[in-house]
Amino acid sequence: MTYPDLYLMIDGQRLSGGGRRTHRVVNPATGSVLAELPLADTADLDAALAAAARGFRRWRDSTPQERAAVLQGAARLMVERQEELARIATLEQGKTLAEARIEVMMNVGLFNFYAGEVFRLYGRTLVRPTGHRSTVTKEPVGPVAAFAPWNFPIGNPGRKLGAPIAAGCSVILKAAEETPASALAVLQCLLDAGLPGDVAQAVFGVPDEVSRHLLGSPIIRKMSFTGSTIVGKHLAKLAAEDCKRTTMELGGHGPVLIFADADLDKALDTVVAGKYRNAGQVCVSPTRFIVETAAYDHFLKGFIERAERIAIGDGLDVASVMGPMANARRLDAMDRLIGDAVAKGARLETGGARIGNAGFFFAPTILSNVPLDATIMNEEPFGPVALINAYSDKDAMVAEANRLPYGLAAYAWTADAARQRRIARELEAGMVGINTAMIGGADAPFGGVKWSGHGAEDGPEGVEACLVTKAVHEG
Ligand code: NAD
Repeated sequence: MTYPDLYLMIDGQRLSGGGRRTHRVVNPATGSVLAELPLADTADLDAALAAAARGFRRWRDSTPQERAAVLQGAARLMVERQEELARIATLEQGKTLAEARIEVMMNVGLFNFYAGEVFRLYGRTLVRPTGHRSTVTKEPVGPVAAFAPWNFPIGNPGRKLGAPIAAGCSVILKAAEETPASALAVLQCLLDAGLPGDVAQAVFGVPDEVSRHLLGSPIIRKMSFTGSTIVGKHLAKLAAEDCKRTTMELGGHGPVLIFADADLDKALDTVVAGKYRNAGQVCVSPTRFIVETAAYDHFLKGFIERAERIAIGDGLDVASVMGPMANARRLDAMDRLIGDAVAKGARLETGGARIGNAGFFFAPTILSNVPLDATIMNEEPFGPVALINAYSDKDAMVAEANRLPYGLAAYAWTADAARQRRIARELEAGMVGINTAMIGGADAPFGGVKWSGHGAEDGPEGVEACLVTKAVHEG
């Protein structure tokens, strides 16, 4: 399959060339250039804003049936185009085809869920004396500027587009310049399902230029961002200048509590697969393994055995279980973080190095006895690295899980029912997995607390985040 042509999608028009600057899109498995992506200039962004204002006036008046038909139609097209979408995602992001196919189907599930939610955007009628009437209604917030990163090239754009469309908003999506074709393919499914071209658009550009321009415009009423905490804080400040609403899905540092009474082999099978999924470039990736001393030797040995068995290769090869990292920046980050940890006394149990010199492959890595002042114990590694430390005190295990300012996903493995409930309450995280790594679903809110952001995507909360309330009082 060939990689598709790239363009900006503004007001239903495909725009490219015209002297625009370009960004080189690279296949992370080979390092070869896939295509040149046109970058938006100021005139492009102004055209997108004008269209979004028009699209909002149109779409806020759409019926739930119209919104549901678009979302369900797009879901059907994604099923039909699953293989094409998955291949595009693998080519430009590196993840295995099997993972990319799952990502497409998760998007299908989300669009179908939102298609049902559009009928449940209820308000309420207040109790008032006869002759008076007070109602609370929910209205779409307005045009949304949405920024999606490269780690889930289909799923992130799907979330950013699906919720505003369900709520009756228009949306300008700036997906990652590294993975543009996946985002364009998701948008095309919506347009082919009948969505008007001014309701959802896609731009690419120099990220800071695009975000400053869009967030500087009074047309945009909400910003939705997924990415690193540092960029999220910067964008939240820009949004605050104009009191825009925000949904922020930021970084994490997934703590995993392993108690000695847990089914250790089941835990290992689950968390090792979870750790190396998408080469660890997942915001809810299990990262800091906080292991009770009595389970430590068995857990560490089992982790190493499983990590060393993982087949690494081009995601297009069906034999591959883990693909390359998505870009060269991640290789540099791995070298820096692992080097720092080892220099500070951590033990490198396996991996720790780049594989080959074509593409961005990095070996599944395990560090043990990692000191708390190692940078990797404090900064999101976003790579195939597991950090495994032993603890003898159960309270200290929970304290370690909550030590960082991040609070996205946290996990615990224990057979003790009372402890399961206590830990679920004590962990400072937006999502908690007890004896499971499955912490998402189309019907469940996905989001964090503390530095991991605020607001949620997916579930009824995802649509709710694109609505504002209005109280109307009639005398
Ligand atoms: P980055 O922080 O510069 O970029 C992350 C994403 O934000 C990219 O998609 C980028 O295009 C976008 N971005 C950056 N600056 C922006 C701006 N001013 N305006 C709008 N968008 C902007 O760096 P990166 O090298 O791509 O990733 C580094 C770190 O980002 C990772 O280590 C990880 O912590 C985090 N990250 C998190 C997620 C997530 O799902 N939460 C996804 C990707 C990256």
